[in-house]
Amino acid sequence: MKGYIVMNNYQICTKCIMDTTDPDITFDSNGVCNHCHVYDTKVALFGYKKDISDKKLADLVSKIKDESKNKEYDCILGISGGVDSAYMAYLTNQLGLRVLAVHVDAGWNSEVAVQNIQKMCQKLKIDLHTIVIDWPTMKEIQRAYMFSGLPNLDVPQDHVFLAAMYQYAKRYKIKYMLNGSNLATEGILPKTWGYTSVDFKSIKGVYKKCGRGKSIKKYPHFNIVQYYIYQRKVKRINLLNYVPYSKKEAIDVLSKEYDWNYYGGKHFESRFTKFFQSYYLPQKFGYDKKRAHLSSLIVGGELNRPDALSQMEDDSIYTINEMIQDRDYILKKLEITLEDWDTIMKQDAKTEDDYPSNKAIINIMVKVKRILKKLR
Ligand SMILES: [Zn+2]
Repeated sequence: MKGYIVMNNYQICTKCIMDTTDPDITFDSNGVCNHCHVYDTKVALFGYKKDISDKKLADLVSKIKDESKNKEYDCILGISGGVDSAYMAYLTNQLGLRVLAVHVDAGWNSEVAVQNIQKMCQKLKIDLHTIVIDWPTMKEIQRAYMFSGLPNLDVPQDHVFLAAMYQYAKRYKIKYMLNGSNLATEGILPKTWGYTSVDFKSIKGVYKKCGRGKSIKKYPHFNIVQYYIYQRKVKRINLLNYVPYSKKEAIDVLSKEYDWNYYGGKHFESRFTKFFQSYYLPQKFGYDKKRAHLSSLIVGGELNRPDALSQMEDDSIYTINEMIQDRDYILKKLEITLEDWDTIMKQDAKTEDDYPSNKAIINIMVKVKRILKKLR
């Protein structure tokens, strides 16, 4: 990003709504941020292009079907009850793929999310497996994360979701996993606002330092070697990048055809994620992931900038009263007192580097993967 000027004072992008709450943000001479530029590059590489993407998808689907013809399923799909995964379930039906849907209940699903999943799978005649994670174990790990000072409190949930998916893929010998990552709703996300959830060493490290020393053996997980093997055996497909994905249209189709209910915000299908992203992150770390999500919708052409700015200011989407109710519910469930909560909010912020991790190995793996992709 040569020639970009880093600003120390507050600045907001003139195209999207990303701002200096991302410490690494840079702006060009027109005030357009680095994320907007990176997004353009990503769209050129992975975005939907009518004839090319349609052909690629058709070829991919026939390859998947061909390779799975002697198996019970063509692919596996993690279904959360949110828009992206529900729309992927709908797409698999359109594409004639035999899908095994896996839903992981880590203790925080909203009623609406669970109903959405059941309605969708019944109507689409999709086999659904629901995995309920041992709550006492999940509670201990999530509780430790609350005391960790780390920004991403969703790591224990995200890891367990992926671990469950890989275990099922292995059990049914499934070679393709449909993944919800997409440019339309997630095209923009600063590096410093997230940490990979594939690193069990980091989870163990956090638990050792901040947990209550109980057994976490019942926590489904994978280590770095297993992750490497899984990655080789199960190919992850970002299905939504192969279609002209629009969140608005997806919600429309899902509600009309499947009586599916929208729950009001990205990742609001989980009560825990909703609270941590809307309260904990902005209050403790000074950034709001909603800003990145709305920016993705702007650059994707789904939302205009003034509407995004007013959504950022709109307190009625998640009121203070609802937030307090959620906070009290979460603290009670995790056995954390209000005094402890006060300490959590006041203590120094930490990063993953403050705990043991496999960050260096994972970074190398990512680099090698990128090089191999280029060589192909
Ligand atoms: Zn921008």
